[in-house]
Order: sequence, then C-alpha cells, then structure tokens
Amino acid sequence: MSNVVFHRALTGQRWDGVEVLAYKEAGTTFQSVTRQVLFEGDPALCVQLRYFEVGPGGHTTLERHQHVHLVWISRGRGRVYVGGEFFELAKGDVLSIPTLTWHQFRAPLNSPLGFHCLVAADRDKPSLPSDQDWRELTQSREAAAFLRR
Ligand code: MN
Repeated sequence: MSNVVFHRALTGQRWDGVEVLAYKEAGTTFQSVTRQVLFEGDPALCVQLRYFEVGPGGHTTLERHQHVHLVWISRGRGRVYVGGEFFELAKGDVLSIPTLTWHQFRAPLNSPLGFHCLVAADRDKPSLPSDQDWRELTQSREAAAFLRR
C-alpha cells in the first residue's frame, strides 16, 4: 500500500480531501480561526503540517508550550506577538515560535491571515496565561492593546 500523501490544491487555500476544522474544540480564547491538517505524520517523519486561517479581525489563542512551531505565511498579512516582540507578517514570511514562548497571531480588520505551521507530531498541550501571567504580559501599552485572552 502506498503511503503517498497527495492533496491537490483547490482555489481559496483549500486542498482536495482535506476537511476545514474548527481551530480548537471551543472557547473564547480565539476568534474566527479554521484549521486544515495537510500531513498527519509518519513514523519516519514525526511532524504534522497544518494550515490555519484567521478571519478578518480574528486572533489565535494566547498560549505557550514546550514544542516549537515553524510558521510560514501563505495568505494575506497580519501581526504576531512572540515573547514580547511584534512582527508584521506578509505572505512568504517564515518565523519560528521558540519553546515556552507566549504567542498570538492577529489578522487585520479587513482581511484574513493564512499560515502553514509545522509541529512535532508528539507534542505537549498549550498552556494559557494565568492572571499573574496576564498582568505581566500586558505591562507594555503595545502588548495590552494587542493581546486578547
Ligand atoms: Mn501555539
């Protein structure tokens, strides 16, 4: 049996045979985000490749975890908070989210932000900021204006 994974690209950041899923189960820690799993992992390549799309004005969960993300921007533009730094994002940009580093992506109000994200198939669950973490994270005016939880 062949182990080839082939998902033909369709229009509008969709792939043949790939379902558009909710970003996470439920919750108020994110807004307007979808997830597509393009590669589930293989014993000889223990990574997963996902595509996320953040709708206009939406944001991903503010979180941190041991595992590292490798992200490349595939659609639109946006902004990301990574461990106290902000980066303006545009299609083609590549960035990593280091281990145990708080991060949150946001799309502009009028357009979506799409990105591919590579992760280890075996990875820890994200943790969310405690009240104390939140106070520390939002000390700067820029972070307080940007971050959501
Ligand atoms: Mn994450």
